[in-house]
Amino acid sequence: MNFQMLSPAEKIVEIMNRIYYGGMTTASGGNLSIRDADGVIWITPSGTDKGSLRTEDIVRIMPSGEIIGPYPPSVEHPFHREIYKRRPDIGAVLHAHPPALVSFSVVQQLPKLSVYPFVKYKCGNIASIPFKFPSSIELSEAVGEKFERGTDIAILENHGVVTAAKDLHTAFSLLEAVNLCANIEINAMAIGHMPISISPKHMAVYMLNVASPMKEFVEHIPTERENVARRELCALVRRSYQRQMFTGEQGTYSMRLEGDSFIITPCDKDRAYLEPEDLVLIKNGYRQGGKNPSRSADLHARIYRNNQDVNSVIIAHPPHIMAFAVTDAEFDTKLISETYITLREVKKIPFGASIMQPELFAREVDLKNPVCIVENDCVIVCSSSAYAAFDSLEVLEYSAKTLVGAAQLGGSYKKMNDDELNAMKQKFGL
Ligand SMILES: [Zn+2]
Repeated sequence: MNFQMLSPAEKIVEIMNRIYYGGMTTASGGNLSIRDADGVIWITPSGTDKGSLRTEDIVRIMPSGEIIGPYPPSVEHPFHREIYKRRPDIGAVLHAHPPALVSFSVVQQLPKLSVYPFVKYKCGNIASIPFKFPSSIELSEAVGEKFERGTDIAILENHGVVTAAKDLHTAFSLLEAVNLCANIEINAMAIGHMPISISPKHMAVYMLNVASPMKEFVEHIPTERENVARRELCALVRRSYQRQMFTGEQGTYSMRLEGDSFIITPCDKDRAYLEPEDLVLIKNGYRQGGKNPSRSADLHARIYRNNQDVNSVIIAHPPHIMAFAVTDAEFDTKLISETYITLREVKKIPFGASIMQPELFAREVDLKNPVCIVENDCVIVCSSSAYAAFDSLEVLEYSAKTLVGAAQLGGSYKKMNDDELNAMKQKFGL
């Protein structure tokens, strides 16, 4: 799907579906709007089911103030209009009630963006707004004032979140990023460890990790084998998004075709809408002409070169396992049998190792050590096939979710003993 080609009403329905079915608002909560080039505000209607919104339900507020549509506009339309009035650069406003962000609003805190460089880089302009009655003029004035001062994301105390951006897709990507950060911090606190902020020096390292310098090759006629691989990998990328292990912007997945050639996710396409032709072919160190591979394409290439039996690599940031990445908590695979069988030991490596010393790092992972956690950054999963890598990532995230739950129950953990581990090693050939 080419999101930018949709009409304003189609864009609103599409993003509302992603918010609602992504668990970030209730059927009656949340509202979205777009200001088009003629100054018309397209906005969700009041009091309708956000899980079954139709394009014909979307209401227009004309520059004259006239309202056109089958329903009244969202009751929160005053603060949408106030942001547009004060910020000419804004083309879309989003309001939702994601449970993690509402949790922060209840305790009058902001998520610690500094634990995760991607979010800190993307969501720097965040603020909180003291409680004002929903739909009130006081709320619209408080929101308008904050956004006029440069805020792009606001936590409304005892209520929810507002994001605003040049377009609706960008406003949604802000929501996804800050919501992921909030969930990571909540999960970190649930396992009893304080999230550790990244240092300014490490933030600078992150900023240095710019786009891949690979040269392009132009001539390319895909084989049927490559087309099959593209369809398989594309389906797994979308599934990773649906399972909330990728966000629209984040999550890198590659699959070896033969020798040193592989296909990899692009850096500038929404994972939810990825098509097989969007994947980028890397061949002998060159990238497919006219396409931008994920920033980590060079690292993937080094892993494939150093490990001939690795055929797929994933770099991801799921909210439960990332709780172990942003704290000093140990992720112990000896607590759950499926985790130990699938993942063996999981190493934690310092932030920046995969960026500053990619060749050294590429030698650290192999099929015997298929998973590692990079502090304050990501998890990296290698496997013998794209499906097996997906399975390992899912086991990793679900195991982390299990440990978050176990921490809430309290009590002492029962680890599998050496005899039990040795028996499993023999039985499963580990
Ligand atoms: Zn609300």
